[in-house]
Amino acid sequence: IFISLEGPDGAGKSTAAQSLVPLMEQVSQQEVVLTREPGGSQIAEQIRQVILDVNNSAMDQRTEALLYAAARRQHLVDVILPALAANKIVLSDRYIDSSVAYQGAGRQIGTQAVWQLNMFATEQLLPQLTLYLDVPAEVGLSRIQHQRTTGLDRLEQEQLAFHKRVQQAYMQLLQDNPQRIKRVDATQAPAQVVQNCLQIMMTQFKW
Ligand code: C5P
Repeated sequence: IFISLEGPDGAGKSTAAQSLVPLMEQVSQQEVVLTREPGGSQIAEQIRQVILDVNNSAMDQRTEALLYAAARRQHLVDVILPALAANKIVLSDRYIDSSVAYQGAGRQIGTQAVWQLNMFATEQLLPQLTLYLDVPAEVGLSRIQHQRTTGLDRLEQEQLAFHKRVQQAYMQLLQDNPQRIKRVDATQAPAQVVQNCLQIMMTQFKW
């Protein structure tokens, strides 16, 4: 079983993922491999370093999209496929939908182009279930920002526009893939978010 977690910055994916693993193992009686993107294996982590290096702000947007796809490919081969072959459950913090939202819509390369690129990279391996942790862009941003005394400054306004595009793309993905992607209200308390995620998995996989 392959499950991905998605959401904008500040949605609480990583926190939710860590709480989910032991609960999933308990109810499914299967081992769960928690992994994250970009990275998750040695080569993929090296690619991650290049992508996230703060000095690389001059990186071309298509280069960035290609590197994300390359990291995803390596992570798939090194981590996801072996775990699935061993009958483990894989919970991945981000996958294809992140690229469609961030590179496709956020960086405005085009969601279709990024989807196609990632179909090549993954040989069309999609998760059976994707949980989308939904928070308004403003809430997500304020969660990851340090305390703010005044309103949004210019840089933050630009960030906000970026994150609104990201969120809109996620909404479109949700609409286009109702079977695969399920929305969870991530403005709720963390424990409630975890319970909702678990409930959706239990229903979907009959645990
Ligand atoms: O998953 P996490 O929130 O830690 O992601 C790290 C950063 O990488 C985020 O700030 C996100 O904006 C960015 N990202 C991206 N494109 C992706 C995945 C993540 O720009 N495909």
